[in-house]
Amino acid sequence: MQPTLQNGAFPIVDAAPQSAARAVPAAERKPLFGMEAAALAEVAAEFGGARYRAQQLEHALYRQWVGSLDEIATLPLRFREQLAEAGYSVGLPEIKETYRSVDGTERYLIAGLDGQTVETVWMPGGDGAETTIEGAEGTSDAGDTGPADTRVAGARGSDTRGADSRGTSAPQRRATICVSSQIGCAVNCQFCLTAKMGIVRNLSAGEIAGQVVAVLKRQGVHLGRDRINLVFMGMGEPFLNYDAWIAAFRLLTGPVQLQPSRMTVSTSGIVPGIVRFAQEPVRPRLAISLNASNDTVREAVMPITRKWNTEAVIDAVRAVPLGPREKITFEYVLLGGVNDQLQHADEVIALVRGAGFPAYVNLIVWNPGPDVPYAQPEQTAVDAFQKRLIARGVTAYIRRPRGRDIYAACGQLKRTTT
Ligand code: SAH
Ligand code: SF4
Repeated sequence: MQPTLQNGAFPIVDAAPQSAARAVPAAERKPLFGMEAAALAEVAAEFGGARYRAQQLEHALYRQWVGSLDEIATLPLRFREQLAEAGYSVGLPEIKETYRSVDGTERYLIAGLDGQTVETVWMPGGDGAETTIEGAEGTSDAGDTGPADTRVAGARGSDTRGADSRGTSAPQRRATICVSSQIGCAVNCQFCLTAKMGIVRNLSAGEIAGQVVAVLKRQGVHLGRDRINLVFMGMGEPFLNYDAWIAAFRLLTGPVQLQPSRMTVSTSGIVPGIVRFAQEPVRPRLAISLNASNDTVREAVMPITRKWNTEAVIDAVRAVPLGPREKITFEYVLLGGVNDQLQHADEVIALVRGAGFPAYVNLIVWNPGPDVPYAQPEQTAVDAFQKRLIARGVTAYIRRPRGRDIYAACGQLKRTTT
């Protein structure tokens, strides 16, 4: 049965897909999704398969987005059976539930093989990274959204045409996908709902990249035509799961063929992670969650500041080599009465100017959540804050909240099911 999309925070449970590995309990299956080319070559070699078998597998996983071994028509039936008997499965994470916002944003609960779910958000029309870098002052991040995408319902289901299906005359679609890197988070920022979960576990590279592919497939995206941005800004701290995160990034920019320049990773300021990031030959854009204008306020709202203070974070960022027009983003969540006054704006201006690298500020109006003891800032304070930054030559945008009604907005991701 095909699920139907509905407005509002209403979960839509998918039918369980069939798989060649039916006989093996899910938790014992060995997922192929997440393996890079060398690992797939080893798997093929296990069964005496030639190198091109590994390439066929890679193509099926990362370009065709197959959901089961049965769908890999290029592989001989016997080879597929051998894979299944040995416990291998495709292992593409499954979308278990979908919540759709009135603004067109969709939030998904996506399950790995152990059944644990993680959150991923689809924001149609969004063009966060680009509007913020090239646009004029104003709103940013998924900012120029028109009406909700009406073609979503038709694009859903078990269609596996994936990236290889070209030549469609449909207009180009734009969207931003917000990706999680961990289940929960250990960083404990006081204003963030994900923090309330604590850290449950790290996600694997396959689970991180798999969120993206599961959503591309669900949305019927055509990569040759559509403009897809990724932001690693979902649940968790990417730089506390660095190895898996960078492996996922390599899959997404390698065989999945997404553009690194359309991706942004956000960190709360994990200095060893920033140091490693600075040495990557290929990397996404970088966003730093600043969220306070001095260390005293930052320690109160982000206790991680005691480990790496603002100066240490900015110092580490100085080592990141930037492209010709690239800028660092400073995210700044405005908390009513805590960090939203003009004196704070002046401190932010001094920080950004003193940083010595090109940067701009993304102001985020705090999204409320149960048991989080903060207040939303007054609209006048938000406007005055942005005006002050711009007047002193610091580029500043206000990030429009997306999907608040379905708990999909920044800092609201905590596997809410109602
Ligand atoms: N852990 C990473 C990335 C995920 S959080 C990080 O902290 O950077 C993504 C962004 O959402 C961060 O900039 C964070 O400061 C912001 N955020 C967290 N909780 C929020 C809330 N309740 N309202 C608005 N923004 C929030
Ligand atoms: Fe973790 Fe980011 Fe939330 Fe802080 S803001 S608790 S680092 S997810």
